[in-house]
Amino acid sequence: MKLIDTHNRTHNYLRISLTDKCNLNCTYCNPSGNSFYGIQNSALLSNEELLRLIKIFVVDFEFTKIRLTGGEPLARNNILDLLESIGKLKSTNPFELGITTNGTFLLDKLESLKGLGLDKLNISLDTLDRLKYKSITGADKIDEVFSSIHKAITLSFSPIKINTVIMKGVNDDEIIEMVTFAIEKNLNIRFIEFMPFQSNGWNDDNYINYEEIKKIVEKKYRLIPIHSHPSEVAKSYAIKGNGGTVSFISSISNHFCGDCNRLRITADGKLKLCLFSPKKNEISLKSLLRSAKYNDADIANVISDSILNKKLKHPEIDELLKLESNNMLQIGG
Ligand code: SAM
Repeated sequence: MKLIDTHNRTHNYLRISLTDKCNLNCTYCNPSGNSFYGIQNSALLSNEELLRLIKIFVVDFEFTKIRLTGGEPLARNNILDLLESIGKLKSTNPFELGITTNGTFLLDKLESLKGLGLDKLNISLDTLDRLKYKSITGADKIDEVFSSIHKAITLSFSPIKINTVIMKGVNDDEIIEMVTFAIEKNLNIRFIEFMPFQSNGWNDDNYINYEEIKKIVEKKYRLIPIHSHPSEVAKSYAIKGNGGTVSFISSISNHFCGDCNRLRITADGKLKLCLFSPKKNEISLKSLLRSAKYNDADIANVISDSILNKKLKHPEIDELLKLESNNMLQIGG
């Protein structure tokens, strides 16, 4: 049965935050500098609970895409065991499996990830400059990220997407350089608009919208639109005469709620209908998974009832700035 909301949007894409822990403290994501928000391991969904949920979404609701994120998903204990189990489920019920990672724990796991059937690899990298990387993330780990990207290329992961959040006065001077990097390595570079979250310093002065970013790219490169499915959040372009592709994710200036096909599970096991929906509207699937009263069919019923409350679009920017309870580590972007 497909999961359709009251705005006639079919949902088929689940993003799961595997942990709120991250080894980086990116200024725009984890501004408090806490490496994690304190969810104990026992409060995270276990591998078995995650598998139960993935099975419900894939088998009962015909989801075709699952993305693992975090925090840093590769910082989760026994991540390869989890991926092995997900891979087994995938072999009988095919779906596309992706991961979004900061790339710092990736190098020695790439071969396993390839073998376990990971389809899509997104690596976050906001700068090519070591010192700037350190000032954005708080860690001197850019070499680990570059090594991971190079190895992923040699292992023929395709596509490899590089997620880059552009902040005016921080890394907007590297936009063309980042595109050149993508061309040289035949990657998809995705420029993401800086989004406001709890005390992450977002303001009109450091926000730059995707049209401005695109204009900067077009000073050097001619972009040719690539047509994609309406539910794709990225507007993607080929680069005339070159390899690699450029995408823009305009979450703020031109939101794509009308075609939203996504649901999210937070690190502490809550169903989130929208990236920006308030904490009070989250539905604890963990408590259902841990209650003897609920079997998988009951949990599926709760999910299909919940989706009827999904709003047509997320609040406008003025409202978003007032939201207090969201943080990206738990939600996973
Ligand atoms: N640790 C992993 C990583 O770094 O890719 C996965 C989690 S991270 C929250 C997922 C994505 O969200 C990253 O690509 C990150 O750049 C993006 N992100 C985090 N905070 C953001 C913000 N305020 N605005 C836009 N994108 C953001």
